[in-house]
Amino acid sequence: MPTNPATVPHTTHSLRWPVEPAQGGWYTNAEHEAAQKALTSSDDWRTGWKNTTTTAAFEDAFTSYTGAAFALTFNSGGTALEMLLRYLRLERGDEVVSCAINFVGPHLAVINQGGRLILAEPDPVTLNLDPVDTERVMSPRTRAILLTHWNGATADLRPFLDLANRHPHPVHGPPVVIVDAARACGGRTPSGMVVGAEGWATVFSFESKKLMTTFGQGGMVTTNDPALAERLRWMRTYGGREHWGTNQMLSKIQAAVGLVQLGRLDEMNAARIHRAHQRTKVLTGITELALPPALDDRTHVYYRHNLLVPTAWAGAGRDALMEMLAARHGVGSIVSDPPTYLGHQLIRAHTAGQDCPRAERLAARLLCPCLHPLMSETDEATVCDAIRATTAQVARTFHA
Ligand SMILES: *Cc1c(COP(=O)(O)O)cnc(C)c1O
Repeated sequence: MPTNPATVPHTTHSLRWPVEPAQGGWYTNAEHEAAQKALTSSDDWRTGWKNTTTTAAFEDAFTSYTGAAFALTFNSGGTALEMLLRYLRLERGDEVVSCAINFVGPHLAVINQGGRLILAEPDPVTLNLDPVDTERVMSPRTRAILLTHWNGATADLRPFLDLANRHPHPVHGPPVVIVDAARACGGRTPSGMVVGAEGWATVFSFESKKLMTTFGQGGMVTTNDPALAERLRWMRTYGGREHWGTNQMLSKIQAAVGLVQLGRLDEMNAARIHRAHQRTKVLTGITELALPPALDDRTHVYYRHNLLVPTAWAGAGRDALMEMLAARHGVGSIVSDPPTYLGHQLIRAHTAGQDCPRAERLAARLLCPCLHPLMSETDEATVCDAIRATTAQVARTFHA
């Protein structure tokens, strides 16, 4: 039985840079003013916090930005994923294929909505779901492929849409492609489209750490399927007059700042991409480290800056590097993320017997030192120097 890996260094009390930034999309006066305006306009017993126009404006702006036909706000990315999977009415034995290296959220949603989670291996360079391994695990029971744009490295959807067409479910037809874009808002895919325009449905998160945020929580679904859009509208507000539903609405003040954040998204992403490219350039001479790919055919938005240590350092060497970065230099880092079944008991029990050795080997070599566009140039240089020094130190013990 594989052991639950530690994802952050043990020495976190003295960090000068946290293991991960707590805030992805940062606020300016424009967000503060929009929030103040929503607050003031709600200070009237006749209107209150009724949010129809603000939410609609945010959704309209999101459809314009992504090019999708419909956009629907939710109170989180997690609830949006649950509702998408609920819509499929998965029956016993129905399968959903997803990459083993993932956030636990999408996998828990599959399990909760009655699906059987089928794990597949990541691509060794982007850590995105590997289409070849996806085909290996697809079966006549496959209802959906759940594709996560990993850490901002946007995936090419075309091979998965093709796989879905070539392996139709006998009753439901081609499996749907659900995209988890919680870490890739504003990215462009190799087909030249903005993330959110392709696939059956795409989920975004506006949680605090994400590339844009609506006061720390929030989500959005984009889709071109009118039937799905209509049903999601009911699900998030008590089912209309016919259906099951609950309350999963974003608040007015969240939608108001969301509009401003979306307007600034490209600028914030550009600053992040600049910072990531700068780090990659500075670290290029360190032969032991595999740096994140540039992916020139798309826009990688670098939710994280992934580093891979040599195979010989997998596990112990990587851990030593993270500990040393933290203890000697105050640089936080995180393993983002190990295969979900290693760190979560429910997922482990559900997927018993399914192992993803490639995912495990890659995760044992992975670390993501803290990266944020608002870190000063001096801070950035110090972090890069620390990575260089600690890598040299570890190299003396673990030969590459
Ligand atoms: C954050 C995240 C989610 C969930 O979003 P919440 O809004 O926090 O519920 C889902 N998938 C991935 C990959 C994420 O990073």
